[in-house]
Amino acid sequence: MFQKVRVRFAPSPTGPLHIGGVRTALYNYLFAKKNGGDFILRIEDTDSQRFVPGAEEYIIEALTWLGLKFDEGTHLGGAYAPYRQSDRKDIYKKYVDVLLEKGAAYIAFDTPEELDAKRAAVSNFQYDASTRSEMRNSLTLDKSEVQRLIDGGNQYVVRFKIEANREVIVNDIIRGEVKYNSSVLDDKVLYKSADSLPTYHLANIVDDHLMEITHVIRGEEWLPSAPLHVLLYRAFGWEDTMPQFAHLPLLLKPEGNGKLSKRDGDRLGFPVFPLEWKDPKTGEISSGYRESGYLPEAVVNFLALLGWNPGNDQEIMSMEDLIHLFSLEKCSKSGAKFDYEKGKWFNHQYIQLKSDNEIADLFYPILEEKGVDMSIDYITSVVGLVKERVSFVKELWDQSSFFFVAPTSYDEKVVKKRWKEDSPVQMTELADIIKGIDDFSSAHQEEVIKGWIEEKGYHLGNIMNAFRLAIVGESKGPHMFDITAAIGKEETIARLEKAVNEIKPL
Ligand code: GLU
Repeated sequence: MFQKVRVRFAPSPTGPLHIGGVRTALYNYLFAKKNGGDFILRIEDTDSQRFVPGAEEYIIEALTWLGLKFDEGTHLGGAYAPYRQSDRKDIYKKYVDVLLEKGAAYIAFDTPEELDAKRAAVSNFQYDASTRSEMRNSLTLDKSEVQRLIDGGNQYVVRFKIEANREVIVNDIIRGEVKYNSSVLDDKVLYKSADSLPTYHLANIVDDHLMEITHVIRGEEWLPSAPLHVLLYRAFGWEDTMPQFAHLPLLLKPEGNGKLSKRDGDRLGFPVFPLEWKDPKTGEISSGYRESGYLPEAVVNFLALLGWNPGNDQEIMSMEDLIHLFSLEKCSKSGAKFDYEKGKWFNHQYIQLKSDNEIADLFYPILEEKGVDMSIDYITSVVGLVKERVSFVKELWDQSSFFFVAPTSYDEKVVKKRWKEDSPVQMTELADIIKGIDDFSSAHQEEVIKGWIEEKGYHLGNIMNAFRLAIVGESKGPHMFDITAAIGKEETIARLEKAVNEIKPL
């Protein structure tokens, strides 16, 4: 293995990064940082058919938002540049030739039509050791014929020549030894003359080698490719520096079986992408965690625990904690259920962990939109009073609008239940009492008003419920005297008077 730990996140820019891909990137990052290593972004775009404009930028923006910092990448450069495979075209041909010279690969001229015909004639046809002798390739054709076909401009592919019936062992840090028989593999296409480009398999191996990658951490869906990759390392004679594999467990649907899909998100109402994405072809918009109001710290913490745990039941962990605690050995083999509600819970927790000031800054644009013009100090104190009631910053308005604007209507159900016949008289009296309070702190108001209630022999609940209805317009909100202390004496009196005039007992 190469000395210094180096891992890569190697997405193909075929659309928005799925939340499972984000978890893969996160685990690579945590592993690299834990081991003092490098975290590299490599863009695997050799399949031009599936290229989607904007996808690479999206990936970078999403991971930046989450705080995953690359050491090298398409956007940063680095000692192993370029990092975009389409910019590395010239590098791969040489390695294809190495395999051809070694006899580990061969040239095949079979046209798509010929292959289709073969597949139609032979059930479960696989291009491999048992069938390659029946096909049109450099193993069955004369050397001169091969040259003539190439010179004549016929398209060809280079296929990997996999020997039949060999044991191939993939050593996986999470799964242990996974054994394969080489006969299950087909002679994979490594290179296509049509676009002078390697396929994923060849480019992936050559780049991992040239970029001195030490660990390949990726989703379980790539495990079936791993034996082929091991054989490619062998064919090149690079076994000594072959990276170690770690195939991460699948993210499963919140309910039932199977892989988490975009459809689950649409059906159950949660995003499966980190950022909002607009499909450049259809214009369709898919929701993102960022736009849905998630804090990046919460998303990171939530994802970290989908397939890994620190070995105890600690749940709230900062990026630093995660780096410190992370290990591939503690990743699970079995799929991780995507518990969306847990994601919300994490967001709630992180809102509580952030200072009132930070949350006030996030709340500010929402207030601006509502036409509220209050000092940031006032907003901060309101946030302190209500944030425990919300899981998202956007829910703050619903929980606190009455701190900023007087109610314009009164909830009918509450009026029916809480506004008694004697409420108007009592609230008028209360307004008078309040006029006489100089120290308008929450505690002092409470003392004076409760004293008045007792003296008068009023029912505490009835007074306080009507009071809340007058100030808030409904029966919600934090401690009553915290609200009035915040909005101030004059506003409290004005709201009481307004309620007395406007609320008609039902
Ligand atoms: N380009 C592959 C992907 O899209 C990379 C798989 C790997 O990490 O080897 O995920």
